[in-house]
Amino acid sequence: MKITFYGTGSSQGVPVIGCKCDVCMSSDSNDKRLRASILIETRNKKLLIDAGTDFRQQLLRGGISDLDAILLTHEHKDHTGGLDDVRALNYISGKPVEIYAEKRVLDSICSEYPYAFADNPYPGVPEMNLNTISDETYFTVGDIKIVPVRVFHYRLPVLGFRIDGLAYVTDANRIELSEMKKICGCRVLVVNALRKESHLAHFSLSQAIDVARETGSQQTYLTHISHQMGLHRAVNEELPTNIQLAYDCLTIEIPE
Ligand SMILES: [Zn+2]
Ligand SMILES: [Zn+2]
Ligand SMILES: [Zn+2]
Repeated sequence: MKITFYGTGSSQGVPVIGCKCDVCMSSDSNDKRLRASILIETRNKKLLIDAGTDFRQQLLRGGISDLDAILLTHEHKDHTGGLDDVRALNYISGKPVEIYAEKRVLDSICSEYPYAFADNPYPGVPEMNLNTISDETYFTVGDIKIVPVRVFHYRLPVLGFRIDGLAYVTDANRIELSEMKKICGCRVLVVNALRKESHLAHFSLSQAIDVARETGSQQTYLTHISHQMGLHRAVNEELPTNIQLAYDCLTIEIPE
């Protein structure tokens, strides 16, 4: 299984429009972060987790012309705001894109993109086939088994995903013990870390490190990173080698 970070930034991305801080002004390409998203490729399937506002740019950058599924963690726009651009994939494949999310999130997609779900839609609207998932049971895409993991984003329930040796959790600041069991022992953990200071709805850097240690993951990559985290290179030098900030376009192989 190969994973590619399509975006590692917080909701505004990095650089932030109009910001003159050291991170936003950095010339290091690892300090340029599109909205959080990850591509998972197996021998015969391609899954994307989240399709935020940078979806079009991310697919262009990754050279992607087909996806077997898009998994959504929650309904915030930095995770769903790019779905209108599935049209490009519809034109190529001649079929709807399969979307997997919990019911509340799918309801939100229907109200955010009402024209896509109208009775007699305008020709050329994005075509999405909505599949309801829950934290109570796993689901499959082809031969890939995906275990949804319940996490909390302040009060909002969000889904993380365990897929073989990978656990992906974003936009969380709390994981119940019973759900932690689902991600324990993963080879690679991807977890959100917004900045060093604490935040109401996101893990801080030290909280994300605690989660990494509790899961016993071999390697942890931090994502959904704000410009307030600091320079990529400087922060990674302070971190242990098995817990590092991810960066856009980072690719990792996870043995199946
Ligand atoms: Zn987010
Ligand atoms: Zn900044
Ligand atoms: Zn969010």
